[in-house]
Amino acid sequence: LEEVDELNAVPRNTSEATNFNGGSLSIEGLRLSYGDMEVLRGIDLEVPKNSVTCVIGPSGSGKSTLLRSLNRLVEMNAGKVLLDGSDIRNMKPETLRARVGMVFQHFNLFPDHTARENIMLSLTKIKGMSLDEARNIADARLADVGLQGRGDHRPVNLSGGQQQRVAIARALAMDPEVVLFDEVTSALDPELVKGVLNLMAELGRRGMTMVVVTHEMGFARQVADQIVFMDEGKIVESGTPDEMFNAPKTDRLKKFFAEVL
Ligand code: ADP
Ligand code: MG
Repeated sequence: LEEVDELNAVPRNTSEATNFNGGSLSIEGLRLSYGDMEVLRGIDLEVPKNSVTCVIGPSGSGKSTLLRSLNRLVEMNAGKVLLDGSDIRNMKPETLRARVGMVFQHFNLFPDHTARENIMLSLTKIKGMSLDEARNIADARLADVGLQGRGDHRPVNLSGGQQQRVAIARALAMDPEVVLFDEVTSALDPELVKGVLNLMAELGRRGMTMVVVTHEMGFARQVADQIVFMDEGKIVESGTPDEMFNAPKTDRLKKFFAEVL
């Protein structure tokens, strides 16, 4: 992860560096059940604007469900989520999802559309843009993620890393206030992981508000402003990378690090 190191060395969140429309999230007492099983058991978390929050924890601890509840792909049963102070339950789901973008492990691109069309679709459908305007934005965002010249490619003709960059460009094209990343490098071939992590580190450095579920401990350590450790539907421990990695407090976090590091 030397390249992440270099990116991280550049000062963050200066007004020049921030060209994102960063928003904050405030999560209070969030509970969510699937049937009889309570999967989120009272989550309280502040995500300040222009910050990177990494969520770590064992499989099944509720990390994906937490992310999905933040843009209402699943509905919470209790508690409150505020986006820039406004209750997300008072927003139309499409409006919320334009403001809180999400990038998934398996890219979720439309296979029958080109990279450019994948990005244009939400701009024309949800933002009501003209084709010309949408095409210009799509090409600009593709260039931002290093895919200039690849707009005409269909997903099948792109590598996994390139497909994930298209998915990131698609999220960015909506001009979101927050972007959620759910294990976005877990399905990639090892040699493609670093490029995507470096792109995410750069977005963080440029001030994008990001919530990143990841197994990449090097990324969490070097890029996160705060790290949240979840287990069994609760936040067991949270802190700065230095606090979490150098002085974990709970036995559960110590045990988790012993397994993954
Ligand atoms: P993580 O992302 O940390 O691995 P998840 O949020 O995916 O955890 O899952 C938390 C728990 O909820 C797990 O026990 C999982 O099996 C269960 N779960 C996840 N999605 C669903 C669903 N759609 N219906 C029922 N149970 C689910
Ligand atoms: Mg998950």
